[in-house]
Amino acid sequence: MKKDVIIVGAGASGMMTAICCARNGLKVLLLEHKDQVGKKILATGNGKCNYTNRNMSENCFRGEDVTFMKQALFSFGAEDAITFFRSLGIEPKEKNGYVYPYSEQAAAVVDAMKMELLHLGVEIQKQHVSKIKALKDAFEICTDGETFSCKKIVLATGGKASSKLGSDGSGLVMARKLGHDIVPTVPALIGLCCKEEYYPQIAGIRMQGKVTLLVDGEKAAEDEGELQFTKYGISGIPVFQVSRYAAKGIEEGKQVEAVIDYMSAFSENDLIECLKERFHHTYKTAQEALIGLLPSKMIPVLLQQSGIKATMKAEKIKEPQIKQLAMQLKRKKTKITDTNGFEQAQVTAGGVSMKEVDVNTMESKIHPGLYFTGEILDVDGICGGYNLQWCWTSAYLASRAIIG
Ligand SMILES: Cc1cc2nc3c(=O)[nH]c(=O)nc-3n(C[C@H](O)[C@H](O)[C@H](O)COP(=O)(O)OP(=O)(O)OC[C@H]3O[C@@H](n4cnc5c(N)ncnc54)[C@H](O)[C@@H]3O)c2cc1C
Repeated sequence: MKKDVIIVGAGASGMMTAICCARNGLKVLLLEHKDQVGKKILATGNGKCNYTNRNMSENCFRGEDVTFMKQALFSFGAEDAITFFRSLGIEPKEKNGYVYPYSEQAAAVVDAMKMELLHLGVEIQKQHVSKIKALKDAFEICTDGETFSCKKIVLATGGKASSKLGSDGSGLVMARKLGHDIVPTVPALIGLCCKEEYYPQIAGIRMQGKVTLLVDGEKAAEDEGELQFTKYGISGIPVFQVSRYAAKGIEEGKQVEAVIDYMSAFSENDLIECLKERFHHTYKTAQEALIGLLPSKMIPVLLQQSGIKATMKAEKIKEPQIKQLAMQLKRKKTKITDTNGFEQAQVTAGGVSMKEVDVNTMESKIHPGLYFTGEILDVDGICGGYNLQWCWTSAYLASRAIIG
């Protein structure tokens, strides 16, 4: 049967576009090269799917030009997403603004979307799309064995993050071949690899702290929360939040460093006083005197970096050494050599440039009838439900335009 629209990619944004179009009576074909639809959604929010955030603002989105996000979120924001998912049977559960399905199961989101697709008669075919040709007033979509043609098509193939879940970058290649400019892609919401050799010694530690990212010595981003130390370097939500700037800096050949504040609850002066108190009124060694303040694995590393012998009597530690230790705790610089790679990344920064896309409709300015939704575009959100919100928002805008 002739279709009104063909959507390539049955991830978050592709399925949402399909549902919106089909609800308005359009005949939709959804092409997906994985065995299952919505595979990536299953991995989101640690299996709970943080599908939006009530603290929604255009400031939570990044890209070369995201000034349009305010208007886009006005058209379809967090409350609209909550209402949409309620219409599918997903009751929201909110934790500090973060919104999850009440059952806290990402599978519920996929199941609910699948049921709706089926109910609306959306045809889903397992096909890998390898080529798209723009004809005079239609598109030819070539898969491994078939060719489809349609006047309106949507590229909802995602970026390059977590390719095992389906987004292998093939959509970006097809977009480029269709003449679209691709803003260089880098992994984002990802751990960062550090140069120093002490990381394996402190791997496994999680502690509250602040990370400030410097690119060529200039502050590029800062975030605070639970830091995680790994064999390769630093991770955790605050590191994820600054990671896109690190990735871009590395890609551009710049010097990237992070300044870690392990004791963000203390001012440097208060910390010096606290250390003096602990060291100068005790029978303990330097190492022992820090137990209860710092994770035990971290103590020998920090003492060594401050030139203090772990076994020396704490009362013998002089003020300059205490100041040195406080500095190591408050302003520890680490050199970022790389990110942990696309395969581990939650999202792709970069993608199809918004300059060649109508920001009200997600339609290509080069090929009318071609639309983009979700992560394939040069928009990435911070951690907290913003990337899925971008999928819902862009899918809503595209489907509204396709429906006409
Ligand atoms: C581990 C993890 C946790 C995350 N947690 C959250 C979270 O809690 N909240 C949040 O907001 N965001 C989260 N994200 C990010 C979010 O999941 C993505 O930004 C979002 O799913 C992107 O949706 P999309 O539709 O653009 O692309 P995708 O979900 O990547 O879907 C693209 C689809 O297209 C298919 N496809 C690709 N190429 C082709 C082709 N050539 N032919 C046919 N089919 C093709 C793929 O198989 C895939 O199904 C997380 C990501 C990861 C990896």
